[in-house]
Amino acid sequence: MRVAFLGLGIMGRSMAANLVKAGHEVAVWNRSGGKEVEGARSAASPAEATTNAEVVWMCVSDTKAVEAVLFGPGGAAHALAAGAIIADSSTISPSATMRFADRVKAGGVDWVDAPMTGSKIAAEAGSLIFMAGGDEAVLARLQPLFQAMGKQVFHMGETGKGQATKLVMNLQIALIYEGFAEALTLGTKLGVDVEKLLPLIQASMVRSGVVDYKAPFILKRDFSPNFPLRLMLKDIRLALDAAKESRVRLPGLEAVEEVYDVAAEEGQQDLDYAAPLTLLEKLAGVEVKAGSN
Ligand code: NAP
Repeated sequence: MRVAFLGLGIMGRSMAANLVKAGHEVAVWNRSGGKEVEGARSAASPAEATTNAEVVWMCVSDTKAVEAVLFGPGGAAHALAAGAIIADSSTISPSATMRFADRVKAGGVDWVDAPMTGSKIAAEAGSLIFMAGGDEAVLARLQPLFQAMGKQVFHMGETGKGQATKLVMNLQIALIYEGFAEALTLGTKLGVDVEKLLPLIQASMVRSGVVDYKAPFILKRDFSPNFPLRLMLKDIRLALDAAKESRVRLPGLEAVEEVYDVAAEEGQQDLDYAAPLTLLEKLAGVEVKAGSN
């Protein structure tokens, strides 16, 4: 298929590369220069990438970025042809998603919100899991692209439901990671060997994909960004906004927001969202290490 891929960050670059590998004709665009994908045509603007595209796939930071890339000067919306599909893998506001989808629908363009889970490793491996919102028949047309980038697609309902689902998924990741980080900190303070604790966690009902993913990085003290803290904080705020709009209280997530606020103030915004462990360690006067006890 002819695809315009907009946004070549941690996730987007590997996703676009996997589309090229699968034989699709890909044009890429990124806001700042110097990011290219082998085998793809580099475009000077979202509109230029979009000319002649059957599908425009976006993977940018947040709601404002999606709005700019689509409707700003040189935006993709200026070059969209009737019958094209916009697929958005950025994590953004579900209500803004519905507004954007309505705007392009007037020109005969369909919208699929397709946020994903799996982080950097799954983006590189082409094994992302997508949660999609949109029309079943439109999703079916995107199948070859989903297959090139991921291993599963869950159709969650109409437009906006993919984004709503993504918020409830990241709500859990944030709370699970906070629990894991607090357990590691207290365990270390109490003299529990982390290397003995990890297999126990994964053998028990506490087991988690978050632990699978994050434990090796923590043991290496590698807090370089796979999922940057600033983006996790954005997602926590999106979930809290959605909760407020729908009159739902989320006291656990509010507490985690405070932790990430402090972490951002401490300069951790561009590190991985696992980095606030170091704040807990500092308060406890310990460091979580392999073979420390
Ligand atoms: P990233 O590495 O920070 O990349 C962000 C991308 O958005 C870059 O291409 C950036 O362009 C672009 N961008 C930001 N503001 C923009 C604007 N105003 N106009 C145009 N482009 C703009 O982020 P990422 O990790 O790839 O994440 C991308 C999206 O996927 C986010 O919504 C994130 O929440 C979601 N997501 C991430 C993960 C993960 O584990 N990393 C997992 C699931 C979902 P520049 O290069 O010019 O800055």
